[in-house]
Amino acid sequence: MVGNFKANESKLKSDYLEACKDNDFKRLVARIKADDELARKYTSKLEECVNNLKKCSKCKGLGECPFECPGLILYPRVDGNMITFEYHECKYLKEENELKKKEMSSTAFYYNEPIQIKNASMGDIDLTDKNRLQTIKWIKDFYKKYNKDKHLKGLYLHGSFGSGKTYILAALLNELVKNGTTTVIMYYPQLLRTLKESFGKNNNESYDEMMNKFMTSDIVLFDDIGAENLTAWSRDEVLGTILQYRMDESLPTFFTSNLNIEELESHLAETKSSVDIVKAKRIIERIKSLTDDIELISKNRRV
Ligand code: ADP
Ligand code: MG
Repeated sequence: MVGNFKANESKLKSDYLEACKDNDFKRLVARIKADDELARKYTSKLEECVNNLKKCSKCKGLGECPFECPGLILYPRVDGNMITFEYHECKYLKEENELKKKEMSSTAFYYNEPIQIKNASMGDIDLTDKNRLQTIKWIKDFYKKYNKDKHLKGLYLHGSFGSGKTYILAALLNELVKNGTTTVIMYYPQLLRTLKESFGKNNNESYDEMMNKFMTSDIVLFDDIGAENLTAWSRDEVLGTILQYRMDESLPTFFTSNLNIEELESHLAETKSSVDIVKAKRIIERIKSLTDDIELISKNRRV
């Protein structure tokens, strides 16, 4: 027994000394700060790592990765009196994942909005119209504050048709997207149809995915609320759920409407089948707690 053990020991030692002739091997052992006695026990596994790393050093991208899971590389770590081996992302996989994350987080989602709204920009807002000054000042303030604090009140912007409500708020959100903010701008009267269509469809975004986006995106704009055909389901299950979540998480939420808040309350009370003042009040309270209120009356810019 003892003889066997000794023979094993000397084989380990000679294997280790042999492996150390490779500079890359020596460098790896030094980098993970393993002493010879410890590293010796893991010679063959460390050699495997070194051989893989050699392949990596010549690699030009994930497309040519020779490993079973492209971009994942086994790397040793000293853990007390052991060496453990863990998979690490290589620089290419890291790059790709970071890019994906950035794309995910800096995406603007538009639901049924026209192209002018997608292209709205703060630089293009017409400043000559005095009626708009209060709104523009508000959005500039928001833009400044949002860099420091992500939990701000949004705006309930109501007023005459074509006065630029949607345009101005879209300009703000489009600007924030550039800093990595996730935003959703949805034309509210169409949203309910879009949600209904999403039920049971695999190719489209599912209902749950959409609801999740409306609840958790950094900033959401409900565009033209009050112009929809109201149902109890859309008010209580859809709007109510989204607003409650955003209130609990203090997430900025915006609305545009042709109705002022009292008119919206009456609108929300009346579905085809019943009048429900309490439920309408509940939504209005949420909107009030989520927003400042500004009226924008101005000339109709629609052509
Ligand atoms: P509202 O939402 O108040 O009904 P919109 O924001 O849709 O009005 O504006 C009406 C039209 O005027 C849209 O076609 C929009 O693109 C355009 N518009 C509004 N404000 C501007 C602006 N500052 N610069 C260029 N076009 C604008
Ligand atoms: Mg509008």
